Amino acid sequence: MNLNSPLFDRIRTRREAKSEQPAPTARGPVCAHPGCQATGEFRAPMGRLREGQYFCFCLDHVREYNATYNYFNGMSDEDLLRYQKDAVTGHRPTWKMGANRAGPASPGMADPFHMQGKTARNRTPRHGVVARKALHVLGLDDDAGPGEIKVRYKELVKRLHPDANGGDRSNEDRLREIINAYNVLRSFRAV
Ligand SMILES: [Zn+2]
Repeated sequence: MNLNSPLFDRIRTRREAKSEQPAPTARGPVCAHPGCQATGEFRAPMGRLREGQYFCFCLDHVREYNATYNYFNGMSDEDLLRYQKDAVTGHRPTWKMGANRAGPASPGMADPFHMQGKTARNRTPRHGVVARKALHVLGLDDDAGPGEIKVRYKELVKRLHPDANGGDRSNEDRLREIINAYNVLRSFRAV
């Protein structure tokens, strides 16, 4: 059994969400959107440097938030460029081969990521680790191109959207994941 599958992630997240909620009140938390008084029953990630922290929104506002969610908000252009450049190389530590004493040739460095040699043989991946994770959420391969991503995204949104299912909202968690993943890919200019 694969305990690392997205299915188990979802189940874990749901359990945690339940246990973290404050003692039940009549209405629960109020939506974090300014001026909105609806119950904030949907969680949305706050973003970079606030991983694991969430806003509580009503359904309308969590949709709005997710549609515009940008993991890189607050990052300077310079940081963003560096991050994207790192993403291309899979956020590996960079070093000049043979020139740096702390590099892979150093006897004190035990190649903690088991990258040595492997990366020299393999071709450079098209996408970095974060983008590849997003591709997996969409059920795509590591090297999916922009056209493929767009087609799959549209197809999934069409299939999972409540409007396409007679108002059935049981697919909302999955739909949110897909929208988030697509936004990540857009921020990496993979789409
Ligand atoms: Zn709201």
